[in-house]
Amino acid sequence: MTRKKIAAGNWKMNMKHQEGVILISEVVNMVKDEVPSTTTVVLCPPFPHLGYAKKMLQSQPNIFLGGQNCADKASGAYTGEVAAGILKSFEVDYVILGHSERREYYKETEELLATKVNIALENDLIPIFCCGETLQQRQSGQHFELVCKQLTASLFHLTPEQYAKIVIAYEPIWAIGTGVTATTDQAQEMHAVIRKHLAGKFGELAQSTSILYGGSVKGDNAKELFACPDVDGGLVGGASLKSREFANIAKSF
Ligand code: PEP
Repeated sequence: MTRKKIAAGNWKMNMKHQEGVILISEVVNMVKDEVPSTTTVVLCPPFPHLGYAKKMLQSQPNIFLGGQNCADKASGAYTGEVAAGILKSFEVDYVILGHSERREYYKETEELLATKVNIALENDLIPIFCCGETLQQRQSGQHFELVCKQLTASLFHLTPEQYAKIVIAYEPIWAIGTGVTATTDQAQEMHAVIRKHLAGKFGELAQSTSILYGGSVKGDNAKELFACPDVDGGLVGGASLKSREFANIAKSF
């Protein structure tokens, strides 16, 4: 069983056009020189960057593009939304779904996310499905149950063929953008629980699922996190906006 090692950068709502051009060209050069081709690098910029970014990545075999979200509808009169099929037509390969910021600020529910997962898969996008608990939920000992419930609600209806395409990102909300990183023990413990839960439904396939850790990953903590047996990479926010930092993370496997 080999699992894909993935360093995914979530730019969130940052970077103007020219800043994006510079960041991508620097990342391309660093990845080309320093990151083995066995590592999958995914850049998830805001939607308007995707078109030119694709052109800049044309000859990069291991750098892919991802959306930060997609609509729960195929097409039509949904002003301001971006459909999975539109992302695919720009040769985007991944889409982040269920990020805690989407769940919190845009009230995305588990049911809605199940629909988005379906529509992403129908359009041949690979969902990076995010799950994670708040500090209060962890402190009251509900974190394992809560994360497993998020996975059950939005993924357990999938067929094995569909499930095999999913990437998971465990992102404890208390570690996102706070500078506080989960300890390696906390990350490994949760990743093992997640894999076991997924195995309960999808059996052996769960051994091939890449489970990324997200939450204040940086160049100087990525190595120890990625060394955990059930941590297969990172979903990186703030540090993905700095080429040197992000490339250091991508070469930490
Ligand atoms: C994220 O937004 O997915 C994230 C993990 O952010 P940060 O790395 O800044 O904590």
